[in-house]
Amino acid sequence: MKKIIYQEKGGSVGERIVLKANLHTHTTNTDGLFSPAQIIDMYKDAGYDVIAFTDHSVLNKVSAYDGKGMRLISGVELHPFGPRGIRWHILAVGVPEDFPHLFPETGQEAVDRAVEAGAVVFCAHPYWCGFTPDEVMTLANISGIEVYNTSCRYIGKEFNMYAWDSCLDAGKKYTAIAVDDIHAMHDFCGGWTMICAESDSAEDVMKALKNGDFYSTQGPEFSKLVVNDVFIEAEFSECAAAVLVGRGADGRELLVENPDGPGTCGVISSFKIALSDCPKGLFRIQLRDANGKFCWSNPVYNQ
Ligand SMILES: [Zn+2]
Ligand SMILES: [Zn+2]
Repeated sequence: MKKIIYQEKGGSVGERIVLKANLHTHTTNTDGLFSPAQIIDMYKDAGYDVIAFTDHSVLNKVSAYDGKGMRLISGVELHPFGPRGIRWHILAVGVPEDFPHLFPETGQEAVDRAVEAGAVVFCAHPYWCGFTPDEVMTLANISGIEVYNTSCRYIGKEFNMYAWDSCLDAGKKYTAIAVDDIHAMHDFCGGWTMICAESDSAEDVMKALKNGDFYSTQGPEFSKLVVNDVFIEAEFSECAAAVLVGRGADGRELLVENPDGPGTCGVISSFKIALSDCPKGLFRIQLRDANGKFCWSNPVYNQ
């Protein structure tokens, strides 16, 4: 199991395990092409540690599945009508296997019932749905959004950085996950969430998800992510671009892609910067490797 040197602001520095997770999964129980057993085999073989089953308004009895050593999470994707008659896609990860509120009247009811039941809740693929950031923010009590959704690639709407940053700018403390939302083979292993947990117990996995102790990626990986009251220090796989994304026009470029013109790229795999030299208020780390694959940290609050 992978490890990371990890410290959140206000916490203590230490080693945590890193659990590779797909938190948005469909099966033959709704409109997915693969059975739960096939999904487990596929993701196990691809090196994953955690799978959340999130069929449309249908629960999976994950306790009856053989996880082959992976942590399986009971989840659901809920679809009440939202603004302008567009249906929400509300991703609830960690609901009980007998969760009764599968057809809520409103988005807020969906979120509230799932949170009350112990779930961590995200607004799934807002770009694909057509929701504006202001519409996303009408949902109280969500943890965040999907910054990346592999299955939305087919119409070019897989990235949600604009919606995430707009909500952060407006004061929402959203985290963001990367997911496959797998229905078919072409959705397999495009983006995933790396959960930095104290153990792989169900309790510690949910605690890390609720606390924002994770990052999202299409490839680049952190091996150190330390934030204390004075500095931020990160070590990661080789990347061609690394930026600190702040509010509005604020930000800081750590390494620019194409430093010597088209077709060239620099290499960065670590940095250590005083928080006083970082964007004020909040910022997040965004990496991109030489293949164009992104990695996103959760926001660091820099008051
Ligand atoms: Zn969806
Ligand atoms: Zn879905």
